[in-house]
Amino acid sequence: MVLELIGLEVLPPPVHMNTMDANLAPPIPFDNSYARLPERFFARVQPTAVAAPKLIRINEPLARELGIDPQALATPEGVAILAGNRIAEGSDPIAMAYAGHQFGNFVPQLGDGRAILIGEVVDTKGIRRDIHLKGAGRTPYSRMGDGRAALGPVLREYIVSEAMAALGIPTTRALAAVTTGGWVLREEPLPGAILARVASSHIRVGTFQFFAARKDTDAIRTLADYTIARHYPHLNDRPDKYRELLSAVIARQGELIAKWMHVGFIHGVMNTDNCSIAGETIDFGPCAFMDTYHPSTVFSSIDRGGRYAFASQPVIANWNMVRFAETLLPILGDTQEEAIATAQERIDAYPPQFQAAITAGYAAKIGIARQAADDTALIQDFLTVMANGAADYTLTFRALSDTAEDPAHDAKLRALFTGSDALDAWLQRWRDRRASDPRTPRDIATAMRAVNPVIIPRNHQIEAVIKAAVSGGDFAPFHRLVDELSKPFDDRPGIDDLKQPPKPEEVVHATFCGT
Ligand code: AMP
Ligand code: MG
Repeated sequence: MVLELIGLEVLPPPVHMNTMDANLAPPIPFDNSYARLPERFFARVQPTAVAAPKLIRINEPLARELGIDPQALATPEGVAILAGNRIAEGSDPIAMAYAGHQFGNFVPQLGDGRAILIGEVVDTKGIRRDIHLKGAGRTPYSRMGDGRAALGPVLREYIVSEAMAALGIPTTRALAAVTTGGWVLREEPLPGAILARVASSHIRVGTFQFFAARKDTDAIRTLADYTIARHYPHLNDRPDKYRELLSAVIARQGELIAKWMHVGFIHGVMNTDNCSIAGETIDFGPCAFMDTYHPSTVFSSIDRGGRYAFASQPVIANWNMVRFAETLLPILGDTQEEAIATAQERIDAYPPQFQAAITAGYAAKIGIARQAADDTALIQDFLTVMANGAADYTLTFRALSDTAEDPAHDAKLRALFTGSDALDAWLQRWRDRRASDPRTPRDIATAMRAVNPVIIPRNHQIEAVIKAAVSGGDFAPFHRLVDELSKPFDDRPGIDDLKQPPKPEEVVHATFCGT
């Protein structure tokens, strides 16, 4: 049982901005749509006020993209909104209902237990985005939880989600982080914090499962129509729009997992409630980037069986898509047989689509612009050499980019591997393969460096940043890491320490979701 140590019940309820001090509030151009869906889709719930909110960071470019003035958001009135102490004008706070398979076991009711959707905005590009406060207090879905988030996981999600965005990977974003001035009890008392998270929506496979478990076909149809209008509007007028929705979600999921794998990202908790229908990375818990490459790498302390290991992610995403397809069965065909046949046909498209996406990305990473049939073997063999040589995933692809420009860098590449015979044999094949490429070595290397990051959020660096903030109240390392990770592909002076894999004593063996 987790408890909020400071008795927040003594605090007054949140202040509504449309009745008090409205002129002081930073305008957030709310335009809510999910809150207009039927009542059984969510619970209306106010954030619980916190003791003494203090701003850690505002993501200024993202705020502007959302049509919010970052300066106004940083005022005490703005920070009060980010902490859930004030309800901004136009906000209609709700906790969304969802179910989900957690580590393969179905839980018919999960829902937002510690996150509250304060509303939606249509951004400057015309895209509707959710603003969520994660850690904003208890909701009807909190079960035994305290509805709160600790500072460490909030900083971790801020760093990793923003790094993912900079790497060009679909993801939820971090708009702001605040400390609450209160404490949350986990294994020990920890400072509380709230993350303002932005997503293109928070609809999950588990949202569909919630209604499927209740045999609520009307709700499934309503949710599917809403999802199509919001995320796949080109399908709106198709007579077979639900089948196409299934295909579109499957395609985006395959592309997403391929992108994760290209940068060595391990989500850690690919439960169906953490699987976004929009194809974004969502719910950063015990996620991690691999340092040394090995396909069976697992960091998450709660993933004891290795269900969500690095190389298992494509299979798990496929499994999650089958669960999604099941929820759509009542609206996929006139008869059950027809619906099942349709679902199976759409699901069967996943493996080849994923294979095409993963191969295309790896081909680009090793400097191949036009793929040939045996490139799959070339790629697979490189990964095997890397695994056997215990090489650092990120540094290896980056050094390969350098050596594509000038073989004088071979030595630097070799130094990353425990033995170099297998690497040398592979390099020879790779050079033979590239001999017919009309591009200059320099152009090839430039293209490779644009897809092979020089820095990623490494676990030991994240841990150091969290330690400085949690035990020393020093947020400077956090700000620096976020700033530098916004340019992951540019090598430049001043980031040498961030390129480094952990020293043996710095290796992080397990990551925790901290809930
Ligand atoms: P997660 O593992 O973060 O995806 O969360 C799984 C479920 O547990 C979701 O329904 C969360 O809302 C809920 N949950 C996680 N942490 C807490 C907490 N501290 N208080 C209440 N609910 C929580
Ligand atoms: Mg979750």
